Amino acid sequence: MTKVVVVGGGIAGIYFAYRLLQLVDARVVLIEPKENHEFVIGIPMAFGGLIDFDQLLFPLSQLRRVIHVRDNAKALDGKCVRLASMPSVCGDYVVLAPGAYKLGSVEYWNVEGAKKLWNNVEKAQSIHFIVNELNPVIGFQEIAYAIKTRFPEKRVSIHLVYVADDYRFLLNPWMTWAEGKGIEISEDPPQHRPGDLYISVPSVRPHPLVADLEPDPATMETQLERVYLIGDAALLKLGLPPIGWGALWQASLVAQAVASEITRGYIEVEPDIWSSMSDPEKFKNWLTYRMTSGTPLIHLKGLYDTWANKVVKTLS
Ligand SMILES: Cc1cc2nc3c(=O)[nH]c(=O)nc-3n(C[C@H](O)[C@H](O)[C@H](O)COP(=O)(O)OP(=O)(O)OC[C@H]3O[C@@H](n4cnc5c(N)ncnc54)[C@H](O)[C@@H]3O)c2cc1C
Repeated sequence: MTKVVVVGGGIAGIYFAYRLLQLVDARVVLIEPKENHEFVIGIPMAFGGLIDFDQLLFPLSQLRRVIHVRDNAKALDGKCVRLASMPSVCGDYVVLAPGAYKLGSVEYWNVEGAKKLWNNVEKAQSIHFIVNELNPVIGFQEIAYAIKTRFPEKRVSIHLVYVADDYRFLLNPWMTWAEGKGIEISEDPPQHRPGDLYISVPSVRPHPLVADLEPDPATMETQLERVYLIGDAALLKLGLPPIGWGALWQASLVAQAVASEITRGYIEVEPDIWSSMSDPEKFKNWLTYRMTSGTPLIHLKGLYDTWANKVVKTLS
């Protein structure tokens, strides 16, 4: 049976495994250092009180259709993945989905870090998000919205001091809408007041594991044959904002390509009309739709239910 090694059990890695196993029978080995898959897109929902933080954690031991190897991938030797504390794992295909490398002290990009932030948010009367990074970790704007929705009496502000143009493209429509909901938006840093909570939004970089790899923007294949790169790490390499909808699209595309080659011997996929190659503007608009359409938490609840009841359940 064809063996597919997936590195990273985040949004992209799990969605890839789900799509692949829908299409074809394969032996999927998942390399992931954490014991849980974390549905990080849902973190703002927990801030908004729609869900408990722990409901965003899905134990990987429950996924019967994938073999979980709990370790860190350290390097790639062709189609073999070198691990931190176990022997290498080799496959017929390798799909790399290690996410982005994050730098910062407020770790709202994982469930544990988000919980810690939540404890501080509960105590503060004024919460200020300071964006002073070219590529900030996305999600702060939805957390801000969730806090304001749950606690209308709290003062919530976002300070876009410095950010890449692509992020402005992403954030501008959302910001206009958020102002209408009572979130203060500014391009200046906040004034310091004792007792207020100041959140320096962390930044993202391409993951060091994939430093030497360049994904083809149409196929996500790297310069190494049958080695693919998807998710935030690939989006950053392609100069696109690292957001989940892009990760899902890439995961689906690569699953189709791998399944097609396994079953037919050649690659045939049905490219979506908004593919980044044929129409970059349409692609960006599609990616930003959910983030700008004004009811993010409700959208996320629907996505969470689908994720838990379809994606995770199918793999269990
Ligand atoms: C709070 C928040 C809210 C968000 N909201 C939205 C939204 O509403 N809409 C949207 O489109 N996007 C949203 N995003 C962005 C979205 O979550 C990311 O784009 C998405 O998670 C990327 O998926 P990924 O699999 O590439 O990376 P991740 O989900 O970060 O997963 C990467 C995985 O790889 C593992 N890993 C790392 N290094 C290694 C290694 N060396 N070996 C093995 N495994 C490794 C990690 O432990 C992790 O499990 C949000 C992000 C955050 C933080």
